[in-house]
Amino acid sequence: MNYILKNHSYSDDIVVTIMMFYPNEKYIQTDTCGDLTVLSMLDGKTAIAAFYDGGEEKAHFALDTAADDEHSVRFALRTAVFKCLMQVKPTKAPWGTLTGVRPAKLVWTMYNEGLNDDEVYTRLTDSYYVTGDKARLAIKVAKSEKRIVENGRGKTGMYIGIPFCPTRCLYCSFTSYPLDRYAEKVDAYLDALETEIKFTAGLIRDKELESIYIGGGTPTSLDERQLDRLLTMVRDNFKAPVEYTVEAGRPDTINLEKLRILKAHDVNRISINPQTLNDDTLAAIGRRHTVSDFYNAFELARQAGHTHINTDIILGLPGEDESHVTRTMDGLERLSPESITVHTLAVKRASRLRETLDRYEMTTFDRMEKMLGITAKRTAEMGMQPYYMYRQKNMVGNFENVGYCKPGHECIYNVQIMEEQQSIIALGAGGSTKTVEKTPHGDKIERIFNVKSVDDYITRIDEMIQRKKEGLENF
Ligand code: SF4
Repeated sequence: MNYILKNHSYSDDIVVTIMMFYPNEKYIQTDTCGDLTVLSMLDGKTAIAAFYDGGEEKAHFALDTAADDEHSVRFALRTAVFKCLMQVKPTKAPWGTLTGVRPAKLVWTMYNEGLNDDEVYTRLTDSYYVTGDKARLAIKVAKSEKRIVENGRGKTGMYIGIPFCPTRCLYCSFTSYPLDRYAEKVDAYLDALETEIKFTAGLIRDKELESIYIGGGTPTSLDERQLDRLLTMVRDNFKAPVEYTVEAGRPDTINLEKLRILKAHDVNRISINPQTLNDDTLAAIGRRHTVSDFYNAFELARQAGHTHINTDIILGLPGEDESHVTRTMDGLERLSPESITVHTLAVKRASRLRETLDRYEMTTFDRMEKMLGITAKRTAEMGMQPYYMYRQKNMVGNFENVGYCKPGHECIYNVQIMEEQQSIIALGAGGSTKTVEKTPHGDKIERIFNVKSVDDYITRIDEMIQRKKEGLENF
């Protein structure tokens, strides 16, 4: 799929919009019309889009920008492409022209402009072409987040990355190294991390740490000694946060001793993620555990005294339909976790799934919609409410990921990372620190990146420290 930009350079906006209609293609910017080509042009205050097939124009749409600012111009350009492509390839687009990953944040922008619920709903449905269901979901999530965002003002969050896993899942695009090849490097990684933890503790001494989230990878793929060492480093350097999460992730990394170590270090939220409760799918996606391993891990966690357990599931895994999702929800209902995060499968560029896509039959839009309906209904029956949400590029059907929880079990970290109202310091390989500064002209967000590779992180830890020192100088 080719695209041409004239008089503007908002390539990302145009590509993301084209992706809704023509997913999983290569998008090539050109100057001339190829077989299938989208033209996006700015002519004075008018955004124009055209679609060509074999050099012949098949559709055209133009609209005036509401104002001269960048946001309005980009919005008009996206809308023109959306309306143009709808003519040639009518496509269900639950989130309309919304390309951002944070729909609830957009709702907040509208509240801050003074809009009430009805006006927010109308703007989402009439200007962004969001469906009524999704507009209601975004409003519900935005309201749920309000208390957490307000409580967290002026406080800080922390992410610590442990980028090791037993095996690599089919759909994974995270910084994650299989332990069979990287086990030897774990101690050196913890040494480097300790250096970064100690240095950062000095920098944020005066800050109130609201949440710590240890993720990855799979932090519980560390052995008991390493896990205890990691949590001891955290305890020795930071004050106890309100919320302390460890992603126990893969059931095949969990045992009673590790769960007790987490408990002894006052970890008060863990995540045990089956992704699906169907053994055939687990084998197909490269997870080295069974459904019964998940049940065992969950029960051990209760035995160790964990009272807030989240479970992640993914809809749209290869070969799954509504009956599989129903079975997964039946199993979760019996366990009664405090929260369930429902992801829809995303085909990420760095995943094995992307490389081998032609081997799988992907879920259809209609099937994904039904599966999402099942999880929404079943979580409601379990007394849960949606409390956070985000979207990603290349999600099958262009839907969303939603976190549901029982009252009082919202994950503070998840909400804060989505809403970008709080600075979050990230440590470890692949960590991306985000500082949020309130200014009279709006929020100023800056990022400090750590290198992604474990080897680079270990050998270049001094450079990571220097980046933090410079980036957090006035923090
Ligand atoms: S458990 Fe998570 S981080 Fe590890 S390989 Fe699977 S998707 Fe990637």
